[in-house]
Amino acid sequence: MLAVPSSAQLRYLILSDIHSNLEALEKCLELAEGQYDEAVCLGDIVGYGPDPNAVIDRLRQVTRTVIRGNHDKACSGITEAEDFNPLARQATLWTRQTLTAEHLSFLRSLPPGPLTLDGFQIAHGSPVDEDQYIVGPETAIPALKSLTSQTAFFGHTHLQGGFMLTFKGGFRSIRCSGAEDGCVLAVTLEDGVRYLINPGSVGQPRDGDWRAAFAILDDTQRRVEYYRASYEVAQTQRKMYEAGLPEPLIIRLQLGR
Ligand code: ZN
Repeated sequence: MLAVPSSAQLRYLILSDIHSNLEALEKCLELAEGQYDEAVCLGDIVGYGPDPNAVIDRLRQVTRTVIRGNHDKACSGITEAEDFNPLARQATLWTRQTLTAEHLSFLRSLPPGPLTLDGFQIAHGSPVDEDQYIVGPETAIPALKSLTSQTAFFGHTHLQGGFMLTFKGGFRSIRCSGAEDGCVLAVTLEDGVRYLINPGSVGQPRDGDWRAAFAILDDTQRRVEYYRASYEVAQTQRKMYEAGLPEPLIIRLQLGR
């Protein structure tokens, strides 16, 4: 007899680090259209890019499951961005002045991670600390051991990929590569293995690939799919010039760094 999937087994669109990049967000939503039931966002909706208000509006059409990132905190005045570099701080202050009162209060209302959803967790930086960068075994292994579900999604580093820990303590990194737009890697979630999955950054990738990144969790197939999508980066850059945002932040978009 065939197992009938329960209603809880869905496909989830996982978005992170959109950073006010409307063109990148629209392209991800276009590529993912019809392929997911629910969407979640791991934070850093704003900061760096030229469209903070439009991106918040668009995201709220797609999901209400959103946690805050460090840029959401700084841009809404929860923190003062004193630990940001001067360029990031400049973009933060511009974003703060550009956001509507309603969007400022929306950002301030976002919960911190980690958040436990239907069988998985989401965090901005790490499940053990919302502002921590998970970049290698020193930070990934304690985070993997802290998980209360098999899989957690995280962002913050803007690097698509992740980490896994087997029940025998075997640690491995997950790396993505693929020149074609679409699914660049699919990872089957195996019993006895814990996963930390970074979908990559929608609006400011830093893994050497300028294309917008996202992931889909297929709960029925027990599989994570990583995606890349080319978008109109020149249009985003034009808007950044017009807004007077710092030039290095404009150039880095086309480099993916
Ligand atoms: Zn970010």
